[in-house]
Amino acid sequence: MHELGIVTHVIRTIEETCTDNHLTRVGSVTLQIGEVSGIVPSYLTDCWKWAADKSEVLRGSELKIEMTEAITDCLDCGKNYRTADYGKECPFCHSTNTVLNHGTECSIKEIFAE
Ligand SMILES: [Zn+2]
Repeated sequence: MHELGIVTHVIRTIEETCTDNHLTRVGSVTLQIGEVSGIVPSYLTDCWKWAADKSEVLRGSELKIEMTEAITDCLDCGKNYRTADYGKECPFCHSTNTVLNHGTECSIKEIFAE
C-alpha cells in the first residue's frame, strides 16, 4: 500500500521534528499533495487514523490534505500548462517534448502543536 508507506514516512519525520523542538503533542498536520501523485486522499486519511494512534505525539491528531495543481513545462515552446487537462502533449505547439514540473510531491506544509 503506497499510502501507508507515505504515512509512515510522514509520521517519522514529524516525530523527529517534535523531538528537535521539544513538542509533546501535535493537534493537526497539513500535507500538500500533487494532483498527479497517484495518492488517494481518503486512503491517506484512513492510514493516518490507524498509524497516528500508535504514535505518542500524534495520537488523536487531525490530518488535513491540500491538493496542489500539476504543471507541465514544454521544452519546445517554453510555455507551461495544467497537466490534468492536457497530459504529455503541449496544447500550444503540440510537442510531446515536455516535463512534469511539479504535481507529484507529497510534503508536510504545517504542523500545529496542541
Ligand atoms: Zn509547446
